[in-house]
Amino acid sequence: MRKHSKEYLQNLTPYQGYELLVDGNKRFINNLKADHDHLEMINETREGQHPFAVILSCMDSRTSVELIFDQGLGDLFSIRVAGNVVNGDIIASMEYAIKYVGSKVLMVLGHTECGAIKSAKEGVQDGHITDLLRRIQPSITKALLNDDKRYLFHDKVAYANVENSLEEILIRSEIVKSMFEKGQIGVVGGVYNVENGQVDFFKNLTRKDRGKVGMSAVLNK
Ligand SMILES: [Zn+2]
Repeated sequence: MRKHSKEYLQNLTPYQGYELLVDGNKRFINNLKADHDHLEMINETREGQHPFAVILSCMDSRTSVELIFDQGLGDLFSIRVAGNVVNGDIIASMEYAIKYVGSKVLMVLGHTECGAIKSAKEGVQDGHITDLLRRIQPSITKALLNDDKRYLFHDKVAYANVENSLEEILIRSEIVKSMFEKGQIGVVGGVYNVENGQVDFFKNLTRKDRGKVGMSAVLNK
């Protein structure tokens, strides 16, 4: 089946979507990128788009999701903002992706050495930056209380910040919550390591069997 088709996306499970991201990152760190023929990709996607995942990541120039998951045109909805924080417009974009286009995976991707997190820790205040950094503060507090040994990388605030964004999306969006609980979409949290290109998929809330997933899995309760 053609990858960029409605049928392909309808038949893809959330877990298979998650595996596409995992495999893509493996290719990326092993320098084995798939053959992305640009003209062919333009041809394949000219009729419309059927991206299998929507990913919120930081604006950091090293964390371009198409590159680090080895994907091409039409594969991913990419939403980027400093510190991968959430607002209403971002949630609306995600709702559109999963409900109206059919994307199967909703991911928040943080990264190590994040400038926004560093600035929040330093208490930087300037222009509109102040307001954005204020929304990262709860992650700094949360990281102090978290001693999760499963994390691959040492940047605890980056992990807490991804968790907080995921929680906010699930709490504020009835559409995301309902589709997630019905097993129609998977929810994934990851942290990208700028030193070696690896993504730690530390939170994978996708089910192989299309079964239900409880909100508690996201809220850590
Ligand atoms: Zn960043």
